[in-house]
Amino acid sequence: MSTSLRRSRYDVAVVGAGAFGLASAYHLIEERPELSILVVDARSGPGEGSMGASNAMVRDIFSSSDNRLLANRSIAFYRHLMDEHEELRGPPPLLDLYGYLWLLPEQAWNEFPRFLRSAEPFVDAEMVPLEALRSLPGLAPAPPRWYEGDDAPPPEPIVGGLFGRNCGAVAPEVLARFYRDEAQRLGVEFRFDTCVQRLSFEGREEILRHEPSGRPFAFQEHVPGRLRISRVHFGDGRAVDADAVIVAGGAWSEKLLHPLGVGTACSPRPETLYSASGPAVEELLDWTSPLNPIDTDHGRPRCPFLILPTGAILKPIFRERQMWLGGASSLARPIGTREDPARDGRLDYSMSAFGDRAGFATDLLPAVTPYLPRFGRSDLRLENSWGGYYSHSPEGLPVLVAEAYGVFFIGGDSGSGIMKADSLGRLVAAAYEGRREARLFGGRSYPWERLSLRRRSVEEERIIL
Ligand SMILES: Cc1cc2nc3c(=O)[nH]c(=O)nc-3n(C[C@H](O)[C@H](O)[C@H](O)COP(=O)(O)OP(=O)(O)OC[C@H]3O[C@@H](n4cnc5c(N)ncnc54)[C@H](O)[C@@H]3O)c2cc1C
Repeated sequence: MSTSLRRSRYDVAVVGAGAFGLASAYHLIEERPELSILVVDARSGPGEGSMGASNAMVRDIFSSSDNRLLANRSIAFYRHLMDEHEELRGPPPLLDLYGYLWLLPEQAWNEFPRFLRSAEPFVDAEMVPLEALRSLPGLAPAPPRWYEGDDAPPPEPIVGGLFGRNCGAVAPEVLARFYRDEAQRLGVEFRFDTCVQRLSFEGREEILRHEPSGRPFAFQEHVPGRLRISRVHFGDGRAVDADAVIVAGGAWSEKLLHPLGVGTACSPRPETLYSASGPAVEELLDWTSPLNPIDTDHGRPRCPFLILPTGAILKPIFRERQMWLGGASSLARPIGTREDPARDGRLDYSMSAFGDRAGFATDLLPAVTPYLPRFGRSDLRLENSWGGYYSHSPEGLPVLVAEAYGVFFIGGDSGSGIMKADSLGRLVAAAYEGRREARLFGGRSYPWERLSLRRRSVEEERIIL
């Protein structure tokens, strides 16, 4: 048993101090201040898993009404935090809603207006005619070819845009610190640099277990109140007891849950981002767009987050005079994590090890340069490359599993978890307390079982970036 922890038994252990684990711990302690809660993470601080490697954008434009609601309410909560806490106003501000601009081929241009009319909750977005996009520096709306010498049919022309206003950037380190500090203030204990290697039913005398596997005799699942998770084992051989465990370990969650027979239905895939600078980037950063975002630079609209018809994305980083690029494809990238905390007792994740500098020229730029040819010039500088994991659920919506014996899973971010994290933290708290419905920020109720696997009731998400 660890001697350096405050207790030898906790009401709740949370594995993972990423966006989901942090929001879960925060909402749980807010609602139940008497609980003893321990959050454990293999990294040395909060938000240093995929959260720290992410593009950290927020939007409430999704095709699924569940995703829309979860994101819309989380964004509203983050905005509310900025109103309440001066230190969250930056720099960098917790939220900077400078907008998303989708550059649309014909089919999407025709479909989006229908979607906007029917979207509930209301989506703050407008269709942008091509004429209004002509000032976008270097834009070639109708590329003649993919690249010099290629005779395949050309890329689809851009016929207009969709500008999302309640969209922009979040500062993940600011959000992670806020949740950690507030949870800590309310009594949650954090333990970093500590890897969880396995979860077990050990130590509860009433549970009959197979030797040497430790697996409980199966019939006990039907004995009311008998089965209860009990122990959290660390990679250094120590352990702590817990009456409930919330696994919020991102892409690595399966490694702890599968040995217990708990499925997540999620597939982790590596995702890479690149930062670039140079004249083509400068021109975009200096663009005074004709669009009207929520957050301006002293009244001046800035270049929004750009999404090309190929799925390539460009995020303006105004202060560093860079653009982050990514998102083209995960084609033929193996599913699964390279790291295995259950096997190794440690989590050797490093976001820079996911860098793939060669992929910038071979995979990403060919999806950008047809529409922004200046990005193909030799004066574009690749500054850096890094990555983490998207944990994809089958439909692109989060997954929340609650086992009767005190094991919970929250995951399936599908590349858009930070923007929904606050809502999901509230759902986890409701599931833990045995309530059917959670109250999202602003008061709207949401039955968390819609995101479960047994009673899942969601429509497929079609806008995954
Ligand atoms: C390239 C990229 C771009 C992205 N862009 C966006 C975006 O624009 N907007 C957005 O909202 N989301 C984005 N995401 C997704 C976002 O990063 C996730 O949704 C978010 O991190 C929440 O996921 P999480 O908390 O489940 O996982 P993580 O952030 O990965 O947190 C899991 C934590 O668990 C810890 N952990 C795991 N296993 C163990 C163990 N056994 N023992 C101890 N600790 C453990 C890890 O160290 C980690 O800190 C992006 C992700 C990537 C990779």
